[in-house]
Amino acid sequence: MIGYLQGVINPTLTEYFFVVVYFLTMAEKILIVEDEPSLQETLAYSLRKEGYNVETVGDGRAALDSARQLKPDLIVLDIMLPEMDGFEVARILRKEMTTAILMLTARDDEIDRVVGLEVGADDYLTKPFSMRELLARVKAQLRRTRLLREEMGNREASPGGHEILKFDNLAINLTRHEVLLNAEPLQLKPKEYELLLFFAEHKSQMLSREFILERVWGWDFIGDSRTVDVHIRWLRQKIEVDAATPLRIVTVRGGGYRFEG
Ligand code: CA
Repeated sequence: MIGYLQGVINPTLTEYFFVVVYFLTMAEKILIVEDEPSLQETLAYSLRKEGYNVETVGDGRAALDSARQLKPDLIVLDIMLPEMDGFEVARILRKEMTTAILMLTARDDEIDRVVGLEVGADDYLTKPFSMRELLARVKAQLRRTRLLREEMGNREASPGGHEILKFDNLAINLTRHEVLLNAEPLQLKPKEYELLLFFAEHKSQMLSREFILERVWGWDFIGDSRTVDVHIRWLRQKIEVDAATPLRIVTVRGGGYRFEG
């Protein structure tokens, strides 16, 4: 026993080696797309220091190539880029993968497009921002990605290789981030999509507003649980036959919701 403990407390070089290899292979991959060398370097340095496996590129085309090859867990994406801008990069990648995208905007008038349907970034930061703020957002995104992966279930692959969740006449295409009702695509805002996906992955479970808020909006979201009610109202208008008497997302007495499928 004592020998065993000593082995644990005083690891040999071989043990150190395996621990390092373990962390290198387990580390979450982040792709940084930023053309300004000093910012690219600062971002890479800060994220590597946190233990992430970081790759950097400086233009939009290289971003597409790297994202397809690396399949990162998160992409930090600048908007103004040579070759192809961040809007276009995000629009293309959204159709190919579910990787979280954190966009870096330089102007307030870009924000509507960043969070809108066309781009649907998971989060954004407006320049200039602090590294502390960036790290908090990165952690929150990766945490949400991990939780979503853990909670995946109840899915099938379509002939095109797309992952689809089906609930009667409602289908969620996870590959394309698309929702079909009676085979017709629904126009959902990014948060409505995430909310529906969250419900789909917790079918028949009672979910409190606070739990939904934390899981779908993230722990660092500034707002209250009325945000959840508002989004559910919008979602009901799109997926229920009669939003006034919902059958899919039902209200549970005592402050929550349940997805019935
Ligand atoms: Ca730029």
